[in-house]
Amino acid sequence: MEYSEMISALKRQFPSGTVQFRDDNNRPYIPNQVYTDRVESATGSQWDLEIKDLDINIPYKYVKAIVRIQIGPHFRDGYGLSIIQGEPSEQPNRLKIAIDSAVNSAFVEALDKYQVGWIDLAPYKTKDWASNPALQHLLVQGAPIAGVPVQSQEQTVHQCLICKRPLSSLDWDFLGKVPNLNRGKMTYCFNDLPDHLKRRVDNKTLQEYEQQQTHRPE
Ligand SMILES: [Zn+2]
Repeated sequence: MEYSEMISALKRQFPSGTVQFRDDNNRPYIPNQVYTDRVESATGSQWDLEIKDLDINIPYKYVKAIVRIQIGPHFRDGYGLSIIQGEPSEQPNRLKIAIDSAVNSAFVEALDKYQVGWIDLAPYKTKDWASNPALQHLLVQGAPIAGVPVQSQEQTVHQCLICKRPLSSLDWDFLGKVPNLNRGKMTYCFNDLPDHLKRRVDNKTLQEYEQQQTHRPE
């Protein structure tokens, strides 16, 4: 794979619903696992992670981590800091939690330098960096502030078992929300999804789907 292809694959918009909100302060974020999955798939697993520095400071109760991510010939470093809660000698698991947290945020910060998730986060960061004129293109490409992410209109590689048409990302996302359904095998567009399966979906999810469907520009 070409380096430039890997980098553009890294930056690509995520499916709708990827951005989550923290319980405590409601700030938007993308979960760690999503970042890992993205760097894996974008590079065909051709990437390296190195913990360049791990400073566990017991007296001052903090952990500092520097994580380096290397893709092809280039690398980016990320920094992470966390506070050790409690007394590490009495509760060693608290120390582990602090280390994990510092390393994870360093990892995310390193990937952030490759602009992973910027398009997805931009609509929520308009009071912050995303309103900068130099970054307006992210908002244009990214999820509209109200309505549907552009991605929902994209076709996926998955084909409906009945009508044989490729599923839209919106339909593919919806299938993922049907409880106990293996969408890899039971692949249906929304119209062809059998009623007994549709009934498994709660009303809120159905309404969201319909809303997104109707807001879709033709
Ligand atoms: Zn169909």
